[in-house]
Parts: sequence; C-alpha cells; structure tokens
Amino acid sequence: MATIDGLPPLREVIKTHDLVAKRQLGQNFLLDLNLTAKIARMAGDLSACDVLEVGPGPGGLTRGLLVEGARHVVAVEKDPRCIAALDEITAVYPGRLTVLNADALHIDPAEYLASPIRIVANLPYNVGTELLIRWLTPLIWPPFWQSLTLMFQKEVAERIVAKPRTEHYGRLALLAQWRCDAKIVMHLPPEAFTPAPKVHSAVVHLTRLPGPRFPADEAMLTRITTMAFGQRRKMLRSSLKALHPDIEAKLVEAGITPTQRAEEISLEGFCALTRSLA
Ligand code: SAM
Repeated sequence: MATIDGLPPLREVIKTHDLVAKRQLGQNFLLDLNLTAKIARMAGDLSACDVLEVGPGPGGLTRGLLVEGARHVVAVEKDPRCIAALDEITAVYPGRLTVLNADALHIDPAEYLASPIRIVANLPYNVGTELLIRWLTPLIWPPFWQSLTLMFQKEVAERIVAKPRTEHYGRLALLAQWRCDAKIVMHLPPEAFTPAPKVHSAVVHLTRLPGPRFPADEAMLTRITTMAFGQRRKMLRSSLKALHPDIEAKLVEAGITPTQRAEEISLEGFCALTRSLA
C-alpha cells in the first residue's frame, strides 16, 4: 500500500531490517503514520524549527515530523540495527534528516541543531524521566529548546501536569510547572504500539517560560521539595524541621500552616517558602 512519503509501510520496514523489538531498549513502535503525523502536529509549526528526536527506532515519528514540514530533524538512536532503515528516510528528505547512532544520555546534539529547536520524542520508558529532568534543569534558563512534545507512560504524564491535592502531585509537577506550561495533549491505548506495552501512554507538551513562574533559588527549592515529598504523609513542620531551628515561623511567613502536608502546597507556596528560608 502506498504511503504519503512514498517509503514502505513501517511493518515492511521492520520486516526488511529484522527489527524485532528489544524490551531492554524500551522498543514499543508506533506503526500508524497518520498517528505519528498527528503527534508531530502537537508540537506546533515545525517549518522554521530544528527538531531533536530521541529514539526514532524504525522511523515512524521521524517520518511524521518530516511530512509535517520540520526544517531539520536530528534523530538520536542507540540501536545500530535501526540505522539502515533511518538512512532510507534521509535519502527521501535530502539535507533534512541527520541520524546519530548514539546513546541520548551520553551525547550533546547541540552542534547538529540550529535555533529555534523543539524536542519531539516517543521516549524509551527506561530513560524518559531522566532525559526530561535534564532538559528541565539546564545550567542556564532559558534552555536550548522552545518546547518538548514527549510520549510517556500515562502515569508519568500525569505526574508532570498534576495539581496540588491530587494523587500524582509531587516533585516532577513542581519542576515542570515552575518554568514551563505543561499539558497532556493526547492519550494512547497500549494497542497503538507494536508490541503493545502493559500500560497506557500519553503525550505531554511543555512550553518553556522566559523565566521561573515565581522567584526562588533552584537548589533550595529542590532541597525543600525533596524533603517535603520524601515524607509526604508527614506535616511540614516535621518533614522540614531540619531546615531551620524555627521552621514553624518560616512556614507561617510563607503563608503555609505548619500542620499542612506537602501535597497541599502549591508551587507558589513552595517558592514563597524557598524565599523565606533563603
Ligand atoms: N520513535 C519510535 C516510534 O515511535 O515508533 C520508537 C520509539 S521506542 C518507544 C524508543 C526508541 O528509543 C527505540 O528505538 C530504542 O532503541 C531507542 N532508545 C532506547 N534507549 C535509548 C537511548 N539511551 N538513546 C537513544 N535511543 C534510545
């Protein structure tokens, strides 16, 4: 059957290159090119952007990004078996796709990318959260990217967008929402992938803010939220007592009742506490 880009359907690509999915590489492939193009559209207008894609695999999302007009895609894939399949895409889009056979945790792709840059990826589950945290905590803000459009396990996606007093609210929500707008833009059932994972998935779109939503020292904010959510069932006057000899006064100064628990405190509240303890 003909595809929109004239390349073979993904099932055929997988067969030709013998890309039997490897669990240890988090390989759950998207084979529906309509779906991958839809995910690419969630990243916004790509025509004037370079896109960093981590884990292109057989290239479903890569092809979606190129069909949707990405100026240049830099795709970082750890599995050498996928490279020949990806090179076939490069041949159809001369000058618009750079494939790097590397571990995304050990490479800095900056030299291959030109601003403005968006990151779009169906992330391998085993490294997804680690990469997200790296992208959210660069040495200087704003970071090298404008937006992140990322597929995660549904539970991780919910942790990124969670609000106070909800089950998934915690450090990841605070980290993401401190300097980004974050929302879930798509839900996917296990059957959307080959092989089907055990869990549901969701795409999160994060847009960077020019600076933090509320002023706070990053290291102190991290320290406070780590302690507070490390013992999330405890009252803050107890979980944070090592931070200050009169922690109750500091909590009150920040507008927090000392008997409240971490999950009740908004991002604004944690930032106010960070300033009062600074
Ligand atoms: N983008 C493809 C798709 O949507 O069908 C594949 C997604 S699959 C969930 C994750 C991909 O990430 C796999 O191709 C896997 O080989 C690759 N991968 C796993 N760990 C990686 C790493 N550390 N660096 C780069 N790629 C990695």
